[in-house]
Amino acid sequence: MSHTITNIEASPAIFRVPPRWLFVRVETSDNIIGWGESTLEGHTEAIEGAFHDLRERFIGAETDNIQDIWQTVYIGGFYRGGPVLMSALSGLDIALWDIKGKRLGVPVWQLLGGKVRDRVKVYGWIGGDHPSEVIQGAEERKAQGFTVVKMNGTDAISWIDSPGFLEATVERVKQVKGLGLDVGIDFHGRLHKGMAKQLAKLLEPLHPMFIEEPLLPTQPEEIADISNAVSTPIALGERLYSRWDFRPYLERRAIDIAQPDVAHCGGISELHRIASYVETYDVALAPHCPLGPIALAACMQVAISAPNFVIQEMSWKIHYNVAAGKDLNVDADLHTYMSNPDVFDVKDGHVAVLQGPGIGIEIDEKRVREASESYVRKSTPWRNPVWRSEDGSVAEW
Ligand SMILES: [Mg+2]
Repeated sequence: MSHTITNIEASPAIFRVPPRWLFVRVETSDNIIGWGESTLEGHTEAIEGAFHDLRERFIGAETDNIQDIWQTVYIGGFYRGGPVLMSALSGLDIALWDIKGKRLGVPVWQLLGGKVRDRVKVYGWIGGDHPSEVIQGAEERKAQGFTVVKMNGTDAISWIDSPGFLEATVERVKQVKGLGLDVGIDFHGRLHKGMAKQLAKLLEPLHPMFIEEPLLPTQPEEIADISNAVSTPIALGERLYSRWDFRPYLERRAIDIAQPDVAHCGGISELHRIASYVETYDVALAPHCPLGPIALAACMQVAISAPNFVIQEMSWKIHYNVAAGKDLNVDADLHTYMSNPDVFDVKDGHVAVLQGPGIGIEIDEKRVREASESYVRKSTPWRNPVWRSEDGSVAEW
């Protein structure tokens, strides 16, 4: 029996909601509604444009043929990959998996081979750009039930900066560890090799859980050098958009943990494939997700079913959500648009396996529509900050 796509709400009706998310809604001829997330922080209008094309192309398509639709988008567009096209594809792919699971009455992880764990380890982000906020953020995450946090290593930094700058980072990490938390440290691609290799060495004795993006993801050879110089696991992947993008890092033995982002890497389909692919290089999976509830629920489907999964990022009360809420005077956090927020309860650093059909969360559509209408009417979408070094030159953010 055929079940076709009858409606894809898309640009300008793709749901642009605060703090900085883009939700996709796909409706089928058998009246199932699937939700996806195409958030690409700071590039909202580009995604809306890319999604417009997908909408035109796939009304009338058979929803069960997720692989065929994925291939049609990826190969059929001739130009492929990159953050914009892959984030648009991600939202559609996640919605199609949600639909398939709902139609069959099973969670998506059942369709990926079943569960290999009973609960999913999670971590919360505490920013870390500004030292004064770090301890307070870490205490807050601990109170929320997290046992692992991630913090940014440094503020804006010059190509070669004062070594004293790095010692301040070490001090901050020590303080957070003093609270009894494990810590991942995100270099955020802010440091260049001359500084990154020093900081990695200084942090090594503190046993960080991982160092993330020690350099920009244009530098696989140099990241491999850092990986060989320290025993700390090296993590990377939020700015890689397919399994092909991971290949140079794997072949050079540059990373220990792959961090694809389900909203940028081609959705659940490609996240699942990347997980299997990196496993052959003895590399673990820790999906990146400073995004909304749909992206998190999609990550969880793979986290539950992938043997090499280690930890899941979760954006509950992160500073972007809190700041957007204050600026716009709205509630704009992980649970805001969900009817069943309890499924993301954190206990002892873990979230229980999602049991609901599809991606396992229920979206409060009325709330999404209202928030989207008011956000589009009143606000420009979220933009990335532009940072400058002490001398006024543009710095990596
Ligand atoms: Mg990062």
